[in-house]
Amino acid sequence: MTSLNQHRPARRELQFITSGRATSDGDGVKMTRLIATPELNMLDPFLLLDAFGSEQAEDYIGGFPAHPHRGFETVSYLLAGRMRHKDSAGHEGVIEAGGVQWMSAGRGIVHSEMPEQENGLLQGFQLWVNLPAREKMQKPAYQEFSVEDIAVEHLDNGASIRVIAGTTNGGTRGPVNNQYVDPLYLDVALPDGQRFAQLTRKAHSAFIFVIEGELSLGDTKQTLGTCQLGILSEGDEILARASGDSRFLLVAARPLHEAVVRGGPFVMNTEAEVLQAYEDFQKNSFLEA
Ligand code: MN
Repeated sequence: MTSLNQHRPARRELQFITSGRATSDGDGVKMTRLIATPELNMLDPFLLLDAFGSEQAEDYIGGFPAHPHRGFETVSYLLAGRMRHKDSAGHEGVIEAGGVQWMSAGRGIVHSEMPEQENGLLQGFQLWVNLPAREKMQKPAYQEFSVEDIAVEHLDNGASIRVIAGTTNGGTRGPVNNQYVDPLYLDVALPDGQRFAQLTRKAHSAFIFVIEGELSLGDTKQTLGTCQLGILSEGDEILARASGDSRFLLVAARPLHEAVVRGGPFVMNTEAEVLQAYEDFQKNSFLEA
């Protein structure tokens, strides 16, 4: 008789921990960059992750005036406050607390992202998700969901899961649709001492960012503290236990395994494509996009 262990899912373990780097971007917005740093260049298909959060208006009031993007998707998720976005094609709206904007820049947009508030807490994340080579020059597209559109699953142990993308073990599905990298994007609140489990595709990249509290992960029970990002090893299942009431993002997606060439706000597959992006932007500011 064979061992039952062969059917046991492979647990993901903490492989790498980073606290990121304090930086500023846009017009002086203070933030912590967690992906796209000297310590962590990228986690395929994730190109960048910024966390921002301040009650001081001077830390965010400058916002992100008009700037271009080409070749990837930006995912803005707000925990608190309001941000107004406006692009070169006339698309405009406000992201409010609990809302998400999954924007595919495709062949090019120019947009601004500005705080829609003059005081109080502004807190959230921006994640850059790469597009496969064949989709980098597609038409720009938006998926926008407000707090009411995002399903929340409540578990018996007091945990609650806000599902932005992907499907939980309990079958709750998030509204974002992305066939390129099949993402999972969860915002999990886990009470002190409670456990959380999530099945994942084995070879998908996965990370956790702890917003508050502390987690111990996998069978090794390595700990991940507040404001730390942890990359998880490959495996079928993520297991987390909270020390103190905790809240964290769990994000996973299929890696693209393609060449990545960055040129500031443009991320392409070759140097020539990045140079072309600068040229197109200077010539027409993507207005023909
Ligand atoms: Mn932007």
